[in-house]
Amino acid sequence: MSVKHTVFLQVFVLLMGGCYTQMQPDKPKMPELWLDAKGVHQDYTAMNPPVGLNLTAAIPLLRDAETIDKIKQSLEQFAGLLWADTFGQLYIKQVILRNNSQDGYIHFEKLEKLGGHARFGGPFTVNTNLLDLDQKTGRKGVGVKVLAAGIMHEFGHSMLLLKDEYGTTRECIMHPQSRTSHFCESCEKELLDRFKNWKFPVGDERAKWVNQNKVPEPTITMGKY
Ligand SMILES: [Zn+2]
Repeated sequence: MSVKHTVFLQVFVLLMGGCYTQMQPDKPKMPELWLDAKGVHQDYTAMNPPVGLNLTAAIPLLRDAETIDKIKQSLEQFAGLLWADTFGQLYIKQVILRNNSQDGYIHFEKLEKLGGHARFGGPFTVNTNLLDLDQKTGRKGVGVKVLAAGIMHEFGHSMLLLKDEYGTTRECIMHPQSRTSHFCESCEKELLDRFKNWKFPVGDERAKWVNQNKVPEPTITMGKY
């Protein structure tokens, strides 16, 4: 076959490919939500999982590249926690991180007291002082991990409407002193009552689930401010 023929055929195949794509019926869209400075915009308790979350996150004071990188790592670990703790009912699809901005669903601030704060359905704040735990404990990476758990805890209030469990003996992310990254049985029951279409694996299937279901990687981009 001559070179000319090959080129012609390739163009023809490309054109046909284009027509074919256009003729395809729309694929069913996976449900998605946007979370921003106004919090959660709609009732999502009846949405069909898996629900992808797109959110904005803001760092109010201009931070150095190293801190921003650690915040990004915490967001990635939070995405893993959310995926595992809800058994894939929710996952982080996209994060737009804004430096030197107040405009975000998550606020990364240096707070005087440990911990963060959130309100049901609204944006929340986490404490970037947690990143200093590396120096305090002498263990590299602890700060990023604890900040990720902090995000998951406040998200538990804001998005999942779970209450604090301080003062209880529960081993739960809603009880940070228990140093557990999962939800307790009581929180899981509350979640299954609230989110009508959610299902959690039971028995032996629970332990297998995390190994069999790889966490979707979130896209984290630096946004304009
Ligand atoms: Zn709990």
